[in-house]
Amino acid sequence: MRYPILFLILIALDLAYDLVLRILQASRRGEPLPETVRDIYDADGYARWLDYSAEKRKLGAVEKIFDAAVLTACFGTRAFSAVYERLPGGDAVKSLLLLLIWTAVTTVLSVPFDWVREKRVEAKYGFSRTETSTFVRDEITGFVVNALLNAALYLAVAWTWGRFGLRGFFIVFLILAVFVVAFSMLATVFQRLYNKLEPLPEGTLRDTLAELFRKAGYELENIYVMDASRRTTKVNAFCSGLGRFKRIVLYDNLVNGYSEDEIAAVFAHELGHYRRRDTMKNTAFTVLLMAVVTAAAAWFASTPEMSLAYGFEGVSPVFGVILLQAVLLTPVMTLCMIPRSAMARRFEYRADAAAVESGYGEALISALKKLSRDNFSDLNPHPAVVALEYDHPTTADRIRAIRERESGGASGGTA
Ligand SMILES: [Zn+2]
Repeated sequence: MRYPILFLILIALDLAYDLVLRILQASRRGEPLPETVRDIYDADGYARWLDYSAEKRKLGAVEKIFDAAVLTACFGTRAFSAVYERLPGGDAVKSLLLLLIWTAVTTVLSVPFDWVREKRVEAKYGFSRTETSTFVRDEITGFVVNALLNAALYLAVAWTWGRFGLRGFFIVFLILAVFVVAFSMLATVFQRLYNKLEPLPEGTLRDTLAELFRKAGYELENIYVMDASRRTTKVNAFCSGLGRFKRIVLYDNLVNGYSEDEIAAVFAHELGHYRRRDTMKNTAFTVLLMAVVTAAAAWFASTPEMSLAYGFEGVSPVFGVILLQAVLLTPVMTLCMIPRSAMARRFEYRADAAAVESGYGEALISALKKLSRDNFSDLNPHPAVVALEYDHPTTADRIRAIRERESGGASGGTA
């Protein structure tokens, strides 16, 4: 019976970690804002931000507690093997059905939370414009994608485990690594599932961005504008494509609300990432994370007691997949994300420095302030939360670093 207890402890620890961070965040209410970001929200705006973040935090906490309760109930009552035994068909069919049921149950249970988040909280503060039809479509697409990924993962694990035993996990890991790299290359293909992308029309913005990329030694394949305003008033931009050929995607909110200098500053920053191959390093880190997760799966497969303790007759690959996702993945990811976020924050400072060197320091500061306002960012998060979870430094820290670099490196003479 030690495995059920071990997993219940993991679920409890994960919940405790989440709640402690939320409490730390809540304790920041009433602290004065750092000097550099005091002009981002007016008094009304900031009061609204405090309410918004408190509401989101509470909703997140309720969802987390609810999820932990569902998991505890499922693992505490051996529900998985009980359902498995009542399903028709051979082992493979039963396994796929169980996985499908589990994916459906977790999706259905998260729908009310997603609904409240989108239609109550985000909409109340004017961020979400998601129509009910878009919401339903997103939920269904999300379910189908999850079900397919789960089924593929199960089939890969079951097949290699049956054929190669423990060594098979190395093969699964290689397949996953290829998948992760392909995914980062095909990011824009996936965005098309959810969004419409239109090429940015000819004009000075297009010329400025193309010139910026050319100077840095990249070929710009195309610039797209994504219809993000259909869902959100928040702002973002990203770049995809490996190697020299880059594809930029801008949220339409960015194109409509920001000056050309500010948009160029955002991309001077992005180029800073590319020059240092930050995206590739992030992908490499993800592959490393996969290795840890695969090792956890191999540990499961070599320990039949885990399946037995939950009422299965031997090692059950489908139970392994469920266990991995529901219990093991979050703690493993949480631990791996701490060094990864620290690395990502360093990359952000460096990319900001690249923008300063291209002469866009002031434009970047003004873009960062607008971005913080439009994305309703936390201007004063708890330092412990930043250290553990943030993949970007706070706006105040970034502005301070940009100012320091501008006053320190005044010898360049760029206009
Ligand atoms: Zn960045």
